[in-house]
Amino acid sequence: MINKKINIIGNGCAALSLARLIRNLPNYKLNLFIGDKNKINKDHFWGFWKVKVNNEAYNNANHTWSKWSINTYETKHILTSVRHPYCVIKRHKWLDICRNQLESEKLKVFKNNVVENDDKLLTKNKKIKGDLIFDSRPPKLPSNVLLQHFEGFVVNSDKDVFDENLAILMDFRCDQSKGMHFIYMLPFSKRKALVESTMFSKTVENKEFYSTEISKYLKKYYNLIKFTKSDHEKGIIPMHYISNESKNTYNIGTRGGAVRPSSGYAFTFIQKQAFQIISQLKNREKINTKIHNNIDLFLDKIFINVISEYPFLAPKIFSSLARILNGDEMAKFMSGNASLLTTCKIIISMPKIPFIKSFFYVVYRK
Ligand SMILES: Cc1cc2nc3c(=O)[nH]c(=O)nc-3n(C[C@H](O)[C@H](O)[C@H](O)COP(=O)(O)OP(=O)(O)OC[C@H]3O[C@@H](n4cnc5c(N)ncnc54)[C@H](O)[C@@H]3O)c2cc1C
Repeated sequence: MINKKINIIGNGCAALSLARLIRNLPNYKLNLFIGDKNKINKDHFWGFWKVKVNNEAYNNANHTWSKWSINTYETKHILTSVRHPYCVIKRHKWLDICRNQLESEKLKVFKNNVVENDDKLLTKNKKIKGDLIFDSRPPKLPSNVLLQHFEGFVVNSDKDVFDENLAILMDFRCDQSKGMHFIYMLPFSKRKALVESTMFSKTVENKEFYSTEISKYLKKYYNLIKFTKSDHEKGIIPMHYISNESKNTYNIGTRGGAVRPSSGYAFTFIQKQAFQIISQLKNREKINTKIHNNIDLFLDKIFINVISEYPFLAPKIFSSLARILNGDEMAKFMSGNASLLTTCKIIISMPKIPFIKSFFYVVYRK
């Protein structure tokens, strides 16, 4: 009888999403190295489109919308999908759901930080031993790359202003002078919405920039001046593929290249990665944590180069995307499940010259 010892490093989305599925393996022991930084992991929302791999998160979602829109000064495209609604779940809620599925008699939790020394992973100066090590510690971030940076909060109003049936995924009617910029707004009721100011650029702005942009937007488009703020959230996500290779370990989550470089979405890809690993373990196959296909990664590189060089084209690019795709197609595309037809439709709809120039830049670079 094989009794595998599986080590998982981390206490976040990738570590616990994988740990919760380990119970599906016949014989195992699980060591979870959660580190000592856990109190600083603030709560926030994870947004995703419902697809097979995130069904459990969908069933526990804090809110779902089957309509979402992409707005520019000139256009407003509303997309609908009943099959693949846009959903959010709070970080702490999802992590608790995962924790509740761990089998305590097979689990050991270590609360010390894991450190690297000469390619060995150590905790309390002892080498981590076992058949398999999955590592989700945050990776070192590359410098001078395009970043997705955002700040926002939940807005509480004392009058009815929001349409709770419509999520606004991107509204470009805001300051475009510092790079690609949009407002992301998820209304939970007529009086309560998560509102974030999000930028794709190489420089993070000061705190005031994001909150001023949100206030200006709420005043101009919702005539909302008086409101209270709660549940602040902010983040910086590199729009760059992080290679998932490592010598003695398998990297997962952000460290394992799960973040989709062109969008910053990772939740669904982390779930896919977890299911993929479990299936490989069950079938005694070689473990491969790579989750994005090469075509998607190549197209993402071209897209990122276009946004870096021509950020003013962003509203046009995203409104074209929303015009030519229906809700199901967009949801699948954003979840890494686009058909060849959808990919071709997207390529054809993009502004030709910047994309062709970026194609050659990506192909001939180095
Ligand atoms: C604010 C924010 C909002 C986001 N929103 C979305 C979204 O809406 N949709 C989406 O798809 N993606 C979103 N993302 C991107 C992505 O889903 C998240 O970053 C996700 O948490 C990545 O999971 P992870 O497990 O790789 O990293 P994390 O969840 O950050 O987990 C890393 C873990 O490693 C632990 N750790 C660190 N150092 C050590 C050490 N030395 N030893 C042991 N453990 C250690 C940490 O304590 C933590 O538990 C968002 C990211 C941020 C930052």
